[in-house]
Amino acid sequence: MPLTVPLRAPWHPTALLLVLALWLATLGNFPLWTVLWRLPEMHGPQAVATLGILVLVVLAATLLLLSLLVWPRWLKPAGLLLLAVTASSSYFMASYGIVIDPTMATNVVQTDMGEALDLLSWPLLVTLALGAALPGIWWWRQPVRAVGMARLFGQQLGTGLLGLLVAVALLWIAFQDVASLMRNHKQLRYMVNPFNTAYAVGRVAVGRTAQAQTPLQALGEDAQAPAASGTDPDAAPLIVLVVGETARAANFGLGGYGRDTTPRLKELQGQGGLVYFSNVSSCGTNTQTSVPCMFSHLGREGYADASGRHENLLDVLQRAGLAVLWLDNQSGCKGVCERVPNVDTRALDLPGLCPDGQCLDEAMLRQLPQELAKLPAERRARGTVVVMHQMGSHGPAYYKRSPQALKQFQPECTSHALQECPVEHIQNAYDNSLRYTDHFLAETVQWLQAQKRPTALLYVSDHGESLGEKGLYLHGMPYRMAPVEQTHVPMLAWASKPLQREMRWNMACLQTKAAQPWSHDNLFHTVLGMARVGTQAHVPALDILSDCAPPA
Ligand SMILES: [Zn+2]
Repeated sequence: MPLTVPLRAPWHPTALLLVLALWLATLGNFPLWTVLWRLPEMHGPQAVATLGILVLVVLAATLLLLSLLVWPRWLKPAGLLLLAVTASSSYFMASYGIVIDPTMATNVVQTDMGEALDLLSWPLLVTLALGAALPGIWWWRQPVRAVGMARLFGQQLGTGLLGLLVAVALLWIAFQDVASLMRNHKQLRYMVNPFNTAYAVGRVAVGRTAQAQTPLQALGEDAQAPAASGTDPDAAPLIVLVVGETARAANFGLGGYGRDTTPRLKELQGQGGLVYFSNVSSCGTNTQTSVPCMFSHLGREGYADASGRHENLLDVLQRAGLAVLWLDNQSGCKGVCERVPNVDTRALDLPGLCPDGQCLDEAMLRQLPQELAKLPAERRARGTVVVMHQMGSHGPAYYKRSPQALKQFQPECTSHALQECPVEHIQNAYDNSLRYTDHFLAETVQWLQAQKRPTALLYVSDHGESLGEKGLYLHGMPYRMAPVEQTHVPMLAWASKPLQREMRWNMACLQTKAAQPWSHDNLFHTVLGMARVGTQAHVPALDILSDCAPPA
């Protein structure tokens, strides 16, 4: 029996492309049309006409794209791929208010199994079944007529050209309206399926190829750490830098949030050893951008424009002769720790800390002493800088980010499809994850206090999070259109009494800096200052500590 039952006369390949283009331009762009329809300026017959024209423009442009790229040999798989990509990007756009841009494509490329599973939910599966599997089965079963290559070339490219002319003519007619819509609502341009994905994937591929071909540029070649004061490797200063994940300042108790999500840190603040910086902005709205950017000397704007590969803060610290260590409890260090000792703590098997094969952030603290001991003694004698990269409040499965004992706010949203939960339940789960970060940081401080040597901790989150404000969830909005919830991050510094004394940290002075506007741009210079590393790369004006901890 033949596998394909010919229900009708076989399709001309280009006609089948038109059917696919029709699906993609209408149902495949459902979130775009819904968002457009709900815009305040979209009312009256004029708006209906604009919307109609835009649907036709997307249809014509899609037809142009398909007729250029999709030829009979890969017609069927290409259709399936387009259906699947369109359905899944529509789901995330409609559910979380995200858009598809190059950084979002990088997120997808760099994701791991755990992160992907955290996104899996029934609504997603239903969307994929209705938007990709069902039409995909129909698509796969359609018989296609064999057309001579030369003839098909002419017909298909002719169709594409027609699509181009129609799109240009329609845009000409509606130019004023369309231009003002695109100007006022920049996110719309990242919502047009499948162009958003095609553009994002293309940009990432080109960027990676270009990046791989550029040599690594050295940084701070003159870097010098202070000489070792003795031979005891455990007497020199130890600085711990905690890179937070998805913690937003708006929900941080220390920043004045209505709920006390940071009781233990408040206690440390009361003792005078901790300063909370309340006005700090992130470099990016996602881990892939923020983490490399905050360790870079380039600052947010320089980092965004930079094309080459540069060494980072950790390379400079190591070159200066200090011991450097990166502990990672998340999806890796995004290239930052490539040239320094680094340890992945996610999949360890530590009693009480690693439920369901994924460790809580305290796993890093548990491993810290033994990993420190492995670092070269002659480096440790000059000083040590450790980075702990948290899992923090990584979503959407916020409820997995806190242990039972710290789930103070109830009930929690335990669905991976956040839109299924009442906003309060999402906030509860999220706030519990911050409550755990409070616990983790306080435990780290407690351990640091017990050390004989001078110790300090600097904590800053990589980016914030949207929790339903303006219909947005998660993070990753292009920076210039990102809401403040995604870019306003908590930051704090703590110093032990011996460190305050020996390195002349004036905590009262530092307190006067607490409300000033700082950003990830300050991290590179501030950590160099904390570690007392002398180099031309250190810009005192960008070092938060420079006025309050005068060099020896
Ligand atoms: Zn992140």
